[in-house]
This record gives sequence, structure tokens and C-alpha cells, in this order.
Amino acid sequence: MKIKNLYIEEEILNNKRALKIEKKLKYENKIICKSYKEIFNPKNQNFRIQKNETSIILATKKKNLILKAPKKFSIGLRENYYFSHMLNCIYDCNYCFLQGMFNSAHYVIFVNYEDFFLNIKDILNHKSRNICFFSGYDCDSLALEDITGFMDFFLNKFIELKNGILEIRSKSTNIKSIKKINPSSNIIPAFSLNPEYSIKSHEHNTPKLINRLNAIRELQNLGWNIGIRFDPFIWYGDLCDMSLFFREIFSSVKKNKVHSVTIGNFRMANNYLKRMVKINPTNPYILEKYISEILPNRIENSIKPKMDKIKEKISKFVDESKIFVN
Ligand code: SF4
Repeated sequence: MKIKNLYIEEEILNNKRALKIEKKLKYENKIICKSYKEIFNPKNQNFRIQKNETSIILATKKKNLILKAPKKFSIGLRENYYFSHMLNCIYDCNYCFLQGMFNSAHYVIFVNYEDFFLNIKDILNHKSRNICFFSGYDCDSLALEDITGFMDFFLNKFIELKNGILEIRSKSTNIKSIKKINPSSNIIPAFSLNPEYSIKSHEHNTPKLINRLNAIRELQNLGWNIGIRFDPFIWYGDLCDMSLFFREIFSSVKKNKVHSVTIGNFRMANNYLKRMVKINPTNPYILEKYISEILPNRIENSIKPKMDKIKEKISKFVDESKIFVN
């Protein structure tokens, strides 16, 4: 993989995993820093400009490795957490909140994978019920797997955790790390889907719908239960055609091997959205979202019936108890 600069925290200069990752990269300069925050956090950066020439920062995550998930974020369990072994993503979705949240588009890879696992184990040790952990909140779980090897490390360990459920959310079709292990009921590979026209217009550089469906089928054939995520679901067509779209999706996967389906709408903290408009002043999708957010009579009230309609359509194919509106 070709990048502009490789930044590396000085305390991990000799870290085995950092060295392994470094070997897979082609970069112009190697720059040593004290903390990734020196490069990542300064405000005088432009996410959009950096997106055209990204660098990688190798770092360790010291605090807040595993965080409580927002209340509505659930696939049926009462207690939910999220974590990200990376910040930022090689894809470039119009609706991605990361461009509103971070000052920098550089990819930060936290190489202390063991600490993520130990933190999860620690949370589980204090609980008797099942707890869900979502991977890939501030990144895509699988997109950079060939470089990071995170899932390769993590899945073998997580599979042993009795009351932990792991969701691996991704748009990537890089499923090699999942195929290496036996299907397990506590690991849910989950793929985000949208109509192909939405993928083309709004999910730049991501795999086509057909390729994501192929990845789902391949894993289902191996015995995996798969999560299907329409989140955010971007639909411009007629409502009646939406049923056809879902028919196509659910006829091309094994319905009995669908773990859960989530439906979500575009949602974003206002300050992130404001920043996204600032750095994307001509992006019609972001402008449209911004305008609808600042209108006095916000669209909030119209969202629930819309989501309920979508749920009703999906429930023709998947049991309603498996469908979650997030
Ligand atoms: S795949 Fe997810 S993390 Fe990556 S750009 Fe798209 S929305 Fe953001």
C-alpha cells in the first residue's frame, strides 16, 4: 500500500506488530513522534485535502479502548459497547461522520491489539449476561485487514469468550480472516448494503453490491450467520420498487442464515454536520442533509413512519424479531 508519510510513536519503534505493518507499506518519509495526537488532532488541517494524500500513523491506544454504545445502537442485546482498532477508513462515503468528527483523514492504527481484548475480557468478567461489542465504529472493520491483521489476531481469541458477542461491521469483501476460523455463534460478520446507485453516488471506493452479496453468500455457505445492515439506507426510487429491491437481496442470500437486519437513517451530531458542510461546500448530499436539519420543522417526525415502512417490507423476508431500527 502506498502512502505519503509513515508516522510512528517513538515508544513502539521496535514493536513487532508495528514493524510487520511497516514492511507492508510504501511511504515517502518515516517520521517519529511522541504521540499520534500531535499529527492527528491539530485543528488547522483539512480532512478533504488530506483524503487525497493520506498517511498512516502507528500508535498505541492508552485510554477509552472500549466504549459504551449509544442507547439505540443494538442488535437485540441490552448492553452494547464499541471499539475501533483504527481511526478513519480507506473508503469515502458522503455520509461518513468521521469527516465531521476528526480533523485529519490520516489512518491511525493502534497496534496494541492485546489491550483491546483484555479490556473486553475485563468487562465480561463483571457481567453474567451476554454483552455485544461492535467493531468498526471509527473505521471499517475489514477494509485494511491485509495491512493491520487485526481480525486475524482477534477472532481466534474472541471465539473463546463465553458471554461476548462480536459484530464485525464492514462494506469490505476482504473476508479471508473470517474464513480462517470455524463459524461461531458469538461472532457476527455484518455487511452494510444499499442499492447499487446509492453505492455509486455515495459510497466512494467501496465494493459493489453484487460483490458484498457474494461475500455474504460465501460465508453463509461456510456456516456463518450474517448481519445485514441498511444503515444508513439511501433510497431514491418509488416505494413499490423498494419491495423488489429487498426481494432481490433476500433471494440472493440464505434467509435462515441471517442473524439480524438493522435499518438506520442518516444521523449526525449537529457540530459534525456543520463541519462537513464547511469542508464539502459543494457536496449536494451533505448540503441537503444540513438544510433539512436546520429547518424549523425538522424531518425527525417523518423518519419513524418511514423506518416502520421499511421494517414492514423487510419483515416479509426475515422474522420481525430479527429486525432492529437503529
Ligand atoms: S465505510 Fe464506514 S467508516 Fe468507511 S467511509 Fe464509509 S461510512 Fe465511513
